[in-house]
Amino acid sequence: MNNGSASDEPNGPREEVVLRLPPGQAREREAIERALRKQVDDPGEWVVLRRSLDARRHPATVELRVGLGLSTVPKVRGAWRPVEDAPEVIVVGAGPAGLFCALRLIEFGLKPVVIERGKPVRERRRDLVALIREGRVDPESNYCFGEGGAGTYSDGKLYTRAKKRGDWHKALGWFVEHGADPDILVDTHPHIGTNKLPGIIEAMRHRIESCGGEVRFGVRVDGVLRAREGQVTGVRTSDGEVSGQAVVLATGHGARDVFQWMAEADLAIERKPFALGVRIEHPQTWVDRRQYRLAGEEAAASRDLPPAAYSLVTQVEGGGVFSFCMCPGGVIAPCATEDGEIVTNGWSPSKRNNAWANSGIVTTIEAEDLDAAGHDGPLGGVAFQRAVEQACHQAGGGGQVAPAQRLTDFVRRRVSKDLPNCSYLAGLKSVDLTKVLPGFVVDRLIAGILDFERKMPGYLHEEAVVVAPESRTSSPVRMVRDPKACTMPGADGLYPCGEGAGYAGGILSAAMDGMRVAAALAQAVNGEDGAAAAAE
Ligand SMILES: Cc1cc2nc3c(=O)[nH]c(=O)nc-3n(C[C@H](O)[C@H](O)[C@H](O)COP(=O)(O)OP(=O)(O)OC[C@H]3O[C@@H](n4cnc5c(N)ncnc54)[C@H](O)[C@@H]3O)c2cc1C
Repeated sequence: MNNGSASDEPNGPREEVVLRLPPGQAREREAIERALRKQVDDPGEWVVLRRSLDARRHPATVELRVGLGLSTVPKVRGAWRPVEDAPEVIVVGAGPAGLFCALRLIEFGLKPVVIERGKPVRERRRDLVALIREGRVDPESNYCFGEGGAGTYSDGKLYTRAKKRGDWHKALGWFVEHGADPDILVDTHPHIGTNKLPGIIEAMRHRIESCGGEVRFGVRVDGVLRAREGQVTGVRTSDGEVSGQAVVLATGHGARDVFQWMAEADLAIERKPFALGVRIEHPQTWVDRRQYRLAGEEAAASRDLPPAAYSLVTQVEGGGVFSFCMCPGGVIAPCATEDGEIVTNGWSPSKRNNAWANSGIVTTIEAEDLDAAGHDGPLGGVAFQRAVEQACHQAGGGGQVAPAQRLTDFVRRRVSKDLPNCSYLAGLKSVDLTKVLPGFVVDRLIAGILDFERKMPGYLHEEAVVVAPESRTSSPVRMVRDPKACTMPGADGLYPCGEGAGYAGGILSAAMDGMRVAAALAQAVNGEDGAAAAAE
């Protein structure tokens, strides 16, 4: 049984050459060829293997790693096979973790039955429009729930610091196989964009279905079915019971009802640290000028530079403060999963051509912070998040109106007389956020922001606005699982997976975890065959 993935060019490059070019030439074949010929007499066939912007030097340059003797970037394609009559595995959740798990199960010859509470990606879009215009949250269809999960209407940044945890190259390859720009295989900070993600997600669903797998929408899983000895044999859903060989739980960290029924069923879950804070939005032109050291009114585009990002981190009394999920040229989005709460996050289109740059600015919430706030037990972090989200809803005054403050006023702890223009379309209300957010969070954020001003002068920009809260950075709960077998102790056949289970943080790492869980599961179901494949 061949469980590997196909590659266009199994052999590597004959030789690699490093070039530095001005940004405007870094994607032009002729300019690259000219630069290459200065270093190599007869380059022959070549391809760019890596492209990274170096903005630390002035002027910024692009470093290219060019592979000689190759005609295309080696592409990884899945070894898809018919699985209609194969043993069925239930995958709960069609986010990146669930989808990549389902695809990898197909490579292993198992039939995925994906159960998703939300709607297909195109129908889901209508609910997002209502969410923004009317402030109504559909608890089954929102920025977090629906086909593609929280990743669908996200920024689509596809980088991870957790590359050792799985086959990131294969994951990126599958994005390309389903419609993403092949540049993501080459760029050091690959980014797809909200406008392009839905088509890619849809193509993945079609792949699963064309191989004989199933994807069921509008069905919520409300519990697991267990045999007397604890073995998980299926799920209880809003549409009846479904049984399978195994159950993968890839429900994301927005599904608080899942954590609740797991706790009630004595399944092994525990509290884990996470981060919480605010979204801060600056004019993109200011970020560009600061990061690229542009003169006067000069625009990044005039130098062929992409909208700039920043990454800031500092240690203050009580904990760390850091920027998170920055969206250059992006939009702040209302990401609540229930009425009565405010949650913000950010996304950006593929061109990143909005006028603002937003980033989460958050502090780590450790066990001792939760203890001090009186939130113990496995669901202590969830209770803390919820309290903050509800307080922000109350401060906003209703719907999805978010409480906000000028950054300069936030650090001075005073209400803003007015608010600058902002990308958050569901509405803002000017309040003193320092009285809404927990005191220790405010103290750390202010100390952190003052340090950011030292590191990045001008950060305390008069037009910068703080919108609260950024509360769903990662899961506040870990679903316990065996490090190798990936099953939950005491619940054989149950495979916690992805961000909600506490094993990923972001699209790519969630996708990689889905693939990893599929390999472990195949090993258990397929025996020796699966074992060989999982060891790849
Ligand atoms: C606006 C926004 C922007 C983001 N930008 C980026 C970015 O640029 N880069 C990045 O790496 N990450 C980004 N993220 C985070 C990223 O989307 C998540 O890390 C990733 O989607 C987690 O994948 P997952 O599959 O583990 O969970 P999810 O994507 O949360 O998917 C879980 C799925 O399970 C379904 N589900 C939940 N409960 C049930 C149930 N009981 N029954 C059936 N189905 C259920 C949900 O509907 C959902 O579709 C962003 C998130 C948001 C909200």
